[in-house]
Amino acid sequence: MAAISDQHPFALEIVLQLRAAGHIALFAGGCVRDSLLGREAKDYDIATTARPEQVRKLFGHRRTLAVGASFGVIMVLAPQGGGQVEVATFRTEGPYLDGRRPESVAFCTPEEDARRRDFTINGMFFDPVEQRVLDFVSGEQDLNAKIVRAIGNPHERFREDKLRMLRAVRFTATLGFSLDPETADAIRAMASELIVVSSERIAQELKKMLLDPHRRRAIQLTEDVELIRVIFPELDSVRRQSEWSLILNGLEALRHPTFELAMALLLKELRTQPNPRTICLRLRLSNDETDRITWLVAHQSDLDDAPALCLANLKQILAHRYRDDLLEMHRVQQVATSSPLDSYQFCVHFLKNTPPEVLDPVPFVTGDDLITMGFKPGPRFKSILDTTRMAQLNLELLSRDEALNRIKQAWDQELPRP
Ligand code: ATP
Ligand code: MG
Repeated sequence: MAAISDQHPFALEIVLQLRAAGHIALFAGGCVRDSLLGREAKDYDIATTARPEQVRKLFGHRRTLAVGASFGVIMVLAPQGGGQVEVATFRTEGPYLDGRRPESVAFCTPEEDARRRDFTINGMFFDPVEQRVLDFVSGEQDLNAKIVRAIGNPHERFREDKLRMLRAVRFTATLGFSLDPETADAIRAMASELIVVSSERIAQELKKMLLDPHRRRAIQLTEDVELIRVIFPELDSVRRQSEWSLILNGLEALRHPTFELAMALLLKELRTQPNPRTICLRLRLSNDETDRITWLVAHQSDLDDAPALCLANLKQILAHRYRDDLLEMHRVQQVATSSPLDSYQFCVHFLKNTPPEVLDPVPFVTGDDLITMGFKPGPRFKSILDTTRMAQLNLELLSRDEALNRIKQAWDQELPRP
């Protein structure tokens, strides 16, 4: 714990400056939790009695951003792009009328600020000068017992902000903790209300859960507290089938997956329906993410027997921009079913021994060539290009001249003149 302020000299400097100006200033929330766990905190948040305008005055308008001024949050930027720290005035929150955000905030004491936070392990402060934890919510006790527990009455806390239900699952899974039974019951009772939370916030939590090595547990916990039916109703029938346990096995076997790959695996049994795309649209994922996920679901079996593919097909798949994801998807599907990795190893070997200019060579013939030869763009045009490309990849055509000659011959013999 003594190391907590060494980890982030810039955050410490901000605390010292706020104190020198007569304010209380403490590290708050996630960074305290992570440091007590001996983990490197992702970002440092500071809570202070200074008002937003005082924070801006102290650090200068050029070095600060009013990211959430109405909530009392000011971002302080380190010189020369050396990072940023959020400085928030101690606050309580007014009533939540829409289940997402408070109607108003009021500035308050550290203790009241601790009580508006979501979970006890997220509700602690640390005084980097005195090297002391300020814990008004028994967070340290729960941290030691590895429990995620809502601060106060869980029903009330989830009624205020429904996203907290998903955050509870995320922290429980990623930290390898257990979920306090009362907190879990409250989630079960209110799960259907997650629907009022914006897709973006849900997707953001989902990403964090799926990127984490504990993603299997995260999904199982989401099922356990019945949130999965709200996020992925389409999976209801899949979850009753034996394939579901294979999906969970596969999720566990993934090594440093992209979010898209983990999603594709989760949704893989929905391949026969337009569902994966519908789900991506509902979660408001980007076009790139959506394309990648739906492509992976559609092509999930392409590498099942790679040695049996013709050379051209093999090259096309292994040169595809989502190739790495597809290979890993194939691998974990094999692992999930305890099946051999021959096809996977064949692909890895092929990739290692095939230079890029052989895997994905510059096309011998392009559309421009065909136009120069007098062809008119159309379905026939595309089929000539495709056939020529396949023949090139299959090493049936070895040069541009050969390819052009083949097209001319075919044209003279078979095709009507354009
Ligand atoms: P991480 O950044 O690793 O996901 P974190 O605990 O830092 O975890 P943030 O979302 O960055 O989480 O929020 C910082 C702190 O703000 C939390 O630790 C918690 O005290 C408080 N907090 C965040 N979101 C909520 C919420 N929806 N309801 C109540 N308190 C919240
Ligand atoms: Mg954080």
